[in-house]
Amino acid sequence: IKKIGVLTSGGDAPGMNAAIRGVVRTALSNDLEIFGINDGYLGLFKDKIFKLNRFSVSDVINKGGTFLGSARFSPFKIYNNRQIAIKNMKKRDINALIVIGGDGSYIGAQKLTEMGFACISIPGTIDNDVVGTDYSIGYFTALETIVKCIDKLRDTSSSHQRISIVEIMGRQCGDLTLAAAIAGGCEFIVLPEVNYDKKELLKEIKKGINKGKKHAIVAITEYICNVTELAKYIEKETQRETRATILGHIQRGGSPVVYDRILASRMGAYSVELLLKGYKSRCIGIKNEKLVHYDIKFALKNLKKNFKSDWLKTAKTLF
Ligand code: ATP
Repeated sequence: IKKIGVLTSGGDAPGMNAAIRGVVRTALSNDLEIFGINDGYLGLFKDKIFKLNRFSVSDVINKGGTFLGSARFSPFKIYNNRQIAIKNMKKRDINALIVIGGDGSYIGAQKLTEMGFACISIPGTIDNDVVGTDYSIGYFTALETIVKCIDKLRDTSSSHQRISIVEIMGRQCGDLTLAAAIAGGCEFIVLPEVNYDKKELLKEIKKGINKGKKHAIVAITEYICNVTELAKYIEKETQRETRATILGHIQRGGSPVVYDRILASRMGAYSVELLLKGYKSRCIGIKNEKLVHYDIKFALKNLKKNFKSDWLKTAKTLF
C-alpha cells in the first residue's frame, strides 16, 4: 500500500477532524500518500478527491464538524455507483480507504471490500450506536452539550414549577439519553430499548407530584413519540405547565472534548497501522480502553450493542 484515501460519512460528529488528522499524520510518517475525499461517498462518486499534506490538518484538532464535509448518499447502495467510486480512486493509484462514520457508513465500506477494495472503518457518530466499540467518536462531546442544556432547562423549570420534556438524539440507541439523564438528574427516562407507554409515564409523573416534586425533567430519545403532543397530554392530565424541548442539531456541534480528541487521534493512527499490517476489511473499536479491530462483516452480523440496564436501574433509584 502506497496511497490511501480518507472520508467522513453520515452524521458529522465532533472529533472527526482529530481522527482525520490522526490518519493523515500517521500515513505521512510512514511514507504513504494520503488523499482526502469531500462529502463522504458522494464525493467518492463525484471524484472530489485531493491530496493532503501535514498542513492540511493543522489547527483542526479542536474544531467540531468535519473539514472534509459529510453527506448521506443513498445511491451508494447501487453497485454501478460504487464501481465509479472505485474507478475514481484507482485512477490515482489509491488502493485503500479509511471511512469515519456510523453503522450506515460501515455497510458502505463493507460493500466496497466485497468488491475487492480495502477499507478500514472508524466509529464516528454521537449516537454511540456502533457495534464492537464501547464508545464512538463524538459521543462524549455531545453528552457534555446535552447535559449543559438540561442544566439550563432545570433552572427555568424549577423557577416555574414546570415539567420539561427533553428530546435527545441517538436514533435506536438510548446511550446518550440514559447517560445525560443520570448526569443531568432527570426524573424520568424514556429509551428506545424499553417499552414506552405514555400512561405509565403519566402515572410516574403523578407519583412524583404527589411526593411533593415541584418540577420534573423527562429525558426521551428521538423517534419514540411526538414530544410536543406528549407535553400537551401531560399538561392536560396533570394541570401542570409542560413544555417540550427538542435539542436537535445543537447536539452535534462544538469543539470536541478531551476524551473524543484522544480517542479520535488513537483510532486514526490505528487505522493506518492496520493497513500497513495488511488488513483489508476491518472496523475499529475501543474495549476497556484498549483499541480492538474486527472483521467488518462479522461485526455487522454478530456484534450487538449492549443495553446498559444496570445504569437504568441506578438512575431509577436516584429519582
Ligand atoms: P449516523 O449514525 O451519524 O447517522 P451513519 O454512517 O449511520 O451515521 P447513514 O446515513 O446511515 O449514516 O449512512 C451513511 C452513508 O453510508 C449513506 O448515506 C450511504 O452513502 C452509505 N450506506 C449506507 N447503507 C449502505 C448500503 N446498504 N450500501 C452502500 N452504502 C450504504
